[in-house]
Amino acid sequence: MIYADYNGSAPLSQDVREYLVKRFEKGPFANPNAIHYLGTKTLMGMENARAVCAKVLGADFDQVIFNSGATEGISTIFHTILSNEKNKKIIIISGIEHSAIINTADYYATRGFTVKCLPVNSNGIVDVDTLTKWLKEDSANIAMVAVMAANNETGVIQPYFEINSLCLKNNIPYLCDTTQFIGKTPFNFKESNMHYAVCSGHKLGALTGTGILLVKNPEKLLPLIIGGGQEKGHRGGTQNYLGNETLAVALTTLEKNFVNINTLTEKRVEFEKKIKSAFPEVVIIGENSPRLATTTYISYPGIHGQAVQIELESQDIFVTTSSACSDNSPVTSKVLKAMGTRDDIGRGVVRISLCLNSPLAYYDKIADALTKAYTKLAKVKSY
Ligand code: PLP
Repeated sequence: MIYADYNGSAPLSQDVREYLVKRFEKGPFANPNAIHYLGTKTLMGMENARAVCAKVLGADFDQVIFNSGATEGISTIFHTILSNEKNKKIIIISGIEHSAIINTADYYATRGFTVKCLPVNSNGIVDVDTLTKWLKEDSANIAMVAVMAANNETGVIQPYFEINSLCLKNNIPYLCDTTQFIGKTPFNFKESNMHYAVCSGHKLGALTGTGILLVKNPEKLLPLIIGGGQEKGHRGGTQNYLGNETLAVALTTLEKNFVNINTLTEKRVEFEKKIKSAFPEVVIIGENSPRLATTTYISYPGIHGQAVQIELESQDIFVTTSSACSDNSPVTSKVLKAMGTRDDIGRGVVRISLCLNSPLAYYDKIADALTKAYTKLAKVKSY
């Protein structure tokens, strides 16, 4: 079996599994906020995990806030920036953001804010020139900017560094959705100098329902969940201490895998070339853009992506047609529409997403399976 849907969710990493088996044997299991011995020991384990996460992510200890994942982190930041904002009424996002950003921005649009959406070129890259222009024209009215670091469907890496510099220059808060970036490529929060970044444990091989919100100035944070003052008042509710410990284990493992980025990228490019030389009609989305090492978004125009997915699944290879964590509908996705991708290409895509320690031979197996699938389905092309 080949699991090739890491951008959707990563299976628990082997190190996390082993950690949990020992952890369940040993304990402690107590409320980390309790002042008795077991509570204090549980707290120490969780705070040690926070220190490890901070180190791997290049953040200060206090800048790491544990939560349930990227969606919660994103909602918390919109809440922090916009809840008391009386004057600045513009929210800038891009056309390729995840629903967690788009729908939150749309919610604030019903509360008096205007959402402006940055265009994206056909290579899947957000247009920084338009952002520069909007900032020049109206920076006094812009409340926040939210543009992702790497796209969940295409894997295309965005000019987040330039966007961040522009935001800093204009004194505008920048929320960078780093959900697909963290763990797949080196990331240092302090060096990035961004205001806010988010991630989800289940994308990293940690337990699902865990996550980290990185905040440059945590004292400015407005809690979305008030509760009993946990996480220094930034996020109420008894912490998921076991889950938070798995974040530290998973991030430590991922950091070790960064050495594989170049070989994996080379193998991925070889795989893509092989398929394209066998089937010249095939399109690799964002082919010439900087992309995550582990993502290929591939389409054979005229062959439906779901048919390809089923064929691959019959050969024990699990891929998706678009963003599994949001709307997996059989039409051209919002991301591809924003890129101006033709509908016959958009309906044909499958996303192959591996992890940094996937065996290189997986690409050979996927190439064979995809060749079989395309050969079979090309005979019954429907549009
Ligand atoms: N942002 C991006 C880019 C994503 O890919 C996802 C999930 O796929 C999210 C945000 C939301 O993550 P979660 O559902 O884990 O909160």
